[in-house]
Amino acid sequence: MTEPVLRVKDIRKSFDGTEVLRGVSLDVCEGEVVVVIGPSGCGKSTLLRCINGLEAIDGGEIFLRGRAISGMQKDQHLIRRKIGMVFQNYDLFPHMKVMDNLLLGPVKALKRPAGEVREEAMEMLKRVGLQGKAEALPRTLSGGQKQRVALVRAMLMHPDVLLLDEITAALDPEMVSEVLNVVIGLAEQGITMAIVTHEMRFAEAVADRVLFLDEGRIEEEGEPEAFFREPRTERARQFLQSFTYASARKAVKGMAQGRTDGKKTGGKEAQGA
Ligand code: ADP
Ligand code: MG
Repeated sequence: MTEPVLRVKDIRKSFDGTEVLRGVSLDVCEGEVVVVIGPSGCGKSTLLRCINGLEAIDGGEIFLRGRAISGMQKDQHLIRRKIGMVFQNYDLFPHMKVMDNLLLGPVKALKRPAGEVREEAMEMLKRVGLQGKAEALPRTLSGGQKQRVALVRAMLMHPDVLLLDEITAALDPEMVSEVLNVVIGLAEQGITMAIVTHEMRFAEAVADRVLFLDEGRIEEEGEPEAFFREPRTERARQFLQSFTYASARKAVKGMAQGRTDGKKTGGKEAQGA
């Protein structure tokens, strides 16, 4: 059996005496896409933040290609080169053009030649539909475009594994698919990923394996088809049902809005987070 790229073994994490991760284990193998879903506050972000060393763990171990990386506080920068992460809020440097944002990590941290990285960056920008945006400042881009740049930036570091934490949660609905399509493209290229998302149809499409996290524990794990069609645990069932309820409610709201159109000045609909 080949060794997993990422192995998380029984990790624990507390904040102010409250245990937020209560013994979480997961393996992500080469080219595999693992999707983590679960209710708000169950520990999904904490899990990803512990994996890439943004939070220190209180127990357990984390291995990258067989090498223990937990507790290597002084080598955090080395770990973060190998573990890419994209968050909900694109953190591009606002005063730097897209290309300069992209060059920063590979050239400064990895000491790769700027010309070579620039060429690769242009190729990647083209692939995500942003070939004309290399010289643009981040503020001139839409949220969806910024997240695509953030994905390119992470990929330019050639990480062993890419962690994505609800990267479409802050986007207007029409921008969600342009970002998720890029992620599906990465999955097709064989990029190893651990993804936290609330987009259930995307999760089903992209996942090789789904983990359901609840109250700091993995309550269920399975292949996407089986998990989404017939979850084994009651908690997962309830969780998935909350999405059908939410979408049913949205549909009802939409109908109500259609009836009252013209009476109201159109406020922007609340975004589901
Ligand atoms: P999720 O991403 O699943 O919504 P989080 O991992 O962000 O959940 O949070 C899990 C729990 O840990 C929450 O109760 C949250 O309030 C708490 N938490 C997260 N980060 C911190 C922190 N830095 N300090 C204190 N509590 C935190
Ligand atoms: Mg979160």
